[in-house]
Amino acid sequence: MQGKLIIFSAPSGSGKTTIVRHLLGHFPNLAFSVSATSRKPRKNEKDGVDYYFLTVEDFKKKVDEGEFLEWEEVYTGQYYGTLRSEVERLRKAGRHVLFDIDVVGGSRLKQEFGSNGLAIFVQPPSLEVMEKRLRERGTDSEKQLQERLGKAREELTYANRFDHILINDQLKNTLLKAEQLIENFIS
Ligand code: ADP
Ligand code: 5GP
Repeated sequence: MQGKLIIFSAPSGSGKTTIVRHLLGHFPNLAFSVSATSRKPRKNEKDGVDYYFLTVEDFKKKVDEGEFLEWEEVYTGQYYGTLRSEVERLRKAGRHVLFDIDVVGGSRLKQEFGSNGLAIFVQPPSLEVMEKRLRERGTDSEKQLQERLGKAREELTYANRFDHILINDQLKNTLLKAEQLIENFIS
């Protein structure tokens, strides 16, 4: 049986990465689809683990060669994309594949995968809380932060294209709900 596809999308700072990391620890048969990006690695991020870090030129070359299932210029000059080879490799190994991708890419993959895909929209309790979490994460410059916040309002309008909306208020509850959604989908 081919693995199923589980998509997490949300504005930056909603908590996707936190939730996805938890689920990978909880379900041994899930595997993370490592995306390619042209943004610079953050402290603690490893090439091939968090992302495949590419130059803009290399990223565009892969676009031209049709290597991406989907890709987006999520922020100005920062490209992100899902490699076909990554998804095929994990599915062939019999794993269910977990995606952490932006809302446009997420709704596109959901359309492509149909009932083999579960698309979950992670929603922050409010834009104010989201901003506070992003600031506390401390990984973005003020300019990057403003771009991420500026985009969030529009991104929130994509929620109804997803199978489920998961409101990330109390983290413990969110993680439990996420576990239940995955459990129901893969069992
Ligand atoms: P994303 O991947 O969507 O950008 P992250 O998972 O990096 O978001 O979360 C943004 C920040 O908010 C991180 O510092 C994370 O530890 C924190 N965070 C995530 N969920 C919660 C929550 N429910 N309550 C408080 N802080 C949270
Ligand atoms: P970050 O820079 O915070 O890691 O990610 C920024 C945004 O890019 C997030 O919304 C993240 O989900 C999204 N993203 C990561 N990988 C991909 C991908 O392969 N495709 C798309 N479309 N978005 C991605």
